[in-house]
Amino acid sequence: MTDPRRDLPSVNTLLESAGVRSLLEQHPRRVVLEAVRSAVDAARDRGDAQQSEQQWVASIASAVQSLSQPSLRRVINATGVVLHTNLGRAPLAESAVQAIAHIAAGFSNLEYDVETGERGSRYSHCVGLLCQLTGAEDALVVNNCAAAMVLALNTLAQKKEVLVSRGELVEIGGSFRIPDIMARAGAKLVEVGTTNRTHDDDYRRAITPKTAAIVKVHRSNFAIEGFTSDVGVDRLAFIASEHGLPVIHDLGSGLMVSLDEYGLTGEPTAGMALESGASLVLMSGDKLLGGPQAGIILGAADLMAKLRKNPLARAMRVDKLTISALEATLRLYLEPGRAFKEIPVLAMLTAPVTEIELRAESVAAKLRAVGIEAKVQESSASVGGGAFPTAAIRSRAIVLSRNPEETEKKLRLGEPAVIGRISDGTLLLDLRSVLPSEDDLLAHAVRKATQ
Ligand SMILES: *Cc1c(COP(=O)(O)O)cnc(C)c1O
Repeated sequence: MTDPRRDLPSVNTLLESAGVRSLLEQHPRRVVLEAVRSAVDAARDRGDAQQSEQQWVASIASAVQSLSQPSLRRVINATGVVLHTNLGRAPLAESAVQAIAHIAAGFSNLEYDVETGERGSRYSHCVGLLCQLTGAEDALVVNNCAAAMVLALNTLAQKKEVLVSRGELVEIGGSFRIPDIMARAGAKLVEVGTTNRTHDDDYRRAITPKTAAIVKVHRSNFAIEGFTSDVGVDRLAFIASEHGLPVIHDLGSGLMVSLDEYGLTGEPTAGMALESGASLVLMSGDKLLGGPQAGIILGAADLMAKLRKNPLARAMRVDKLTISALEATLRLYLEPGRAFKEIPVLAMLTAPVTEIELRAESVAAKLRAVGIEAKVQESSASVGGGAFPTAAIRSRAIVLSRNPEETEKKLRLGEPAVIGRISDGTLLLDLRSVLPSEDDLLAHAVRKATQ
């Protein structure tokens, strides 16, 4: 028997072929070299040495393409989950994208006061807007909400006790576990009440001279129903004030404007959370606020001053790109009408279902025009990102019933990748979480994946 591996062309022979030489003109040599090697390896594994030069060049070109793709790339979110942590949470408003590009390309007054010509503070930039929009006395922006919690606990409760209801000892998407975070922040967790019921007296009885704070965690990714009771922030603030303790409210979602009139009820806005009497409110920048990843701390100026002085704040500081995008996003909230139109998360959550249906029909019609079986059906979208856990938002999905598994895979591996979901043996592409500007790209991607 002959060994097919002996007939494999050498890497050097392939590098000298006309097709590969032209790849070398467009791509770094090391990338092309790696592509050639991987094409030869793949052929060896398949026992397939007998390829025409054209076939070799095609497989090398395809390897070059996949090696040249950035690791972090755009995907189309057709899951119907608007705030999808695995898909990068909030897409940014156009003005936030422009602010990032503008600031990123040059120098900035990040820590420089242009009025006085002296050193300034990076923490000063979003404070005014945040206070104006939420009624907070002071504000501090760090890298994410988890960091905000660590900073708050470490500053106010290191080596001391912190009371938390057993019903709030939760894990929130992306391995944020309240007990673990507390331990790392150096605070001792004191559990009060039971999983389903916690009362005023549970907190009162747990307060000792070692107590440093009461923490309230917003139950963001699940709901406890049935025989339940818990103590609201207003009651906690009252109990805490009897003992001169701060209440830290981990709000998570970062809702800035009420979504009640869109049928999304029960989630407090940042302003409401502050009004209830929390000393500090912690929230994410990239959830319902619709901005970049950030942890926003709102509340009392005296506590904020302590937080800023903690050396950990330095380790959690945000960069100029985050600040630029957050400031631009917050600015949109000065005119709520603009915020609902221009902040993609808000636009997606509040778009009338008739509008989603029109878009779905138009994409489906384009697909049918080229012979692809595509229907539109009712679907149920969700907020995601740990907010409104039980809300089902009326939506529409494009249904692809032919070869759903294969199509799902091809869409996922395409460029741009499209992420849908398989349900009842069909592939659903929910339009509520797709940016309207991506509708044509989506149609194009489906055409490519089904042909
Ligand atoms: C999402 C969430 C967090 C974590 O926020 P990150 O910004 O991802 O760190 C913390 N607490 C609550 C209540 C949340 O919903």
